[in-house]
Amino acid sequence: MDAQTDGFTCATTDRGNPDPMGVYSGGVDLTSLNSCDPIVLNVYFWGINRPNGQNDFPNRADHVLCGVANLNILYNEFGIYFKYRGFEEIDSPTLPNDEDGYYVLEQVIDYFNMVTWATNEGFRKPDAFNVYLFGWAGFGGGIAPNLSGSTHCGVNSSGISKVTLVHEIAHNLTIKHTRSSTEHATRDINDPNFNADTAGDAVVDTAANNGFRDNSCACYPFVDLTTCSYIGFEEDNVGDLYQIFPIDINNAMGDAYPCRQIHLTTGQGIRAREALIADVQGNFGPTLTTIASLYEPYAGEYYVTGPEPNPYNPPLFQPGFNYRFLECSCNCPEPSPYEDVSFSYTNNSLLTISKDNTGFSSITHPNHSAIQIDLDLCEPYGQNTRRCYDNWNKAADSGTVTKFEDNVFNNNVTITQKDSLTINNPNFIDNLPQGLYVIDKNYNDGSTNQTVIQKDNN
Ligand SMILES: [Zn+2]
Repeated sequence: MDAQTDGFTCATTDRGNPDPMGVYSGGVDLTSLNSCDPIVLNVYFWGINRPNGQNDFPNRADHVLCGVANLNILYNEFGIYFKYRGFEEIDSPTLPNDEDGYYVLEQVIDYFNMVTWATNEGFRKPDAFNVYLFGWAGFGGGIAPNLSGSTHCGVNSSGISKVTLVHEIAHNLTIKHTRSSTEHATRDINDPNFNADTAGDAVVDTAANNGFRDNSCACYPFVDLTTCSYIGFEEDNVGDLYQIFPIDINNAMGDAYPCRQIHLTTGQGIRAREALIADVQGNFGPTLTTIASLYEPYAGEYYVTGPEPNPYNPPLFQPGFNYRFLECSCNCPEPSPYEDVSFSYTNNSLLTISKDNTGFSSITHPNHSAIQIDLDLCEPYGQNTRRCYDNWNKAADSGTVTKFEDNVFNNNVTITQKDSLTINNPNFIDNLPQGLYVIDKNYNDGSTNQTVIQKDNN
């Protein structure tokens, strides 16, 4: 098999044993989700290189950010949020007779050997979902352990920004493939043949089917790939016709690979949430973090005081959310803590970012603004506008001094332009003669600041 032409299939085997009792409701009603119980998970990415440090994916870091956005766009609907904790490239060890090392995974066992090596080397975050990005594999595009709750998976480097990542994370969250030879077509719970709540993926709102892909021809005999619609008349094992719609063929956990989209059903999302809440294996607990973490940058630094560093790396926020950075005011040379909502703010957005934005360097926190994230949270979470950053420590670029000659605010004024050196001189105001002044300062980020000075005779 040519590994590089089969970069999309999944090597995860569905767990055969029945679900633990009392964990899954089988629910399919989105309104049953409790918006007072958001679940925020840390996620960390490792890019595997060849032993010589080389790889074939120069845009891997950007693709990781696309993947982070996809995870949030898909799972936020179910009250599950992913906090991006970082991406690191690591060189594979040299393996006997294998110059590519773990960069190319020949067999499934190589993935698990790689995870063992990475864990021993410290290339595994105990408090996060760990995604290992290999080059490509003989077994397909992705893999996750078939446990009822695991926190690592492998994704090929060309699949990070595609369905493969959300698919393997879904396996971590106990979501199975939608295909099954034992699940019956009926969705009528009064039909004696109804078994959708226990057979196959045990999710009722995914249609029964025994697999769209025929591996013997690597083709899809009953799917029209141009419309992603089902054109077969196949029966389940009690003789009922499968009822399959394009939305079922598009499912991220299906095997109509050319038709898959970043889409899960409500039932699949509820199953993921219930797995996280029950945490039967105890693996998920350490990966949990807070809504407040979503208001922290994943890279860069805030300017606080002194000269601006050159080059300056501004704080960057993860893609996949709708942001508005709202004009705010407080004594906050550093962003106010998440819990402190004593600052004032307006509805004037200095920067608006949509969840689909892929200009990652533009998702930063403008000075004199607070971060509003469009999270669907319940009342006890309070306002979604947090962390006012209102810093006036930067040196001004220029300014003007307006002297009111009659010592009252009228039109009898003298206006003097001042350069950066003069306007930033700490003795500048002390040196002004007696009188009434307005000082305007202009900053390189476009902001302006105005102060009134009454100089007495002294
Ligand atoms: Zn899979």
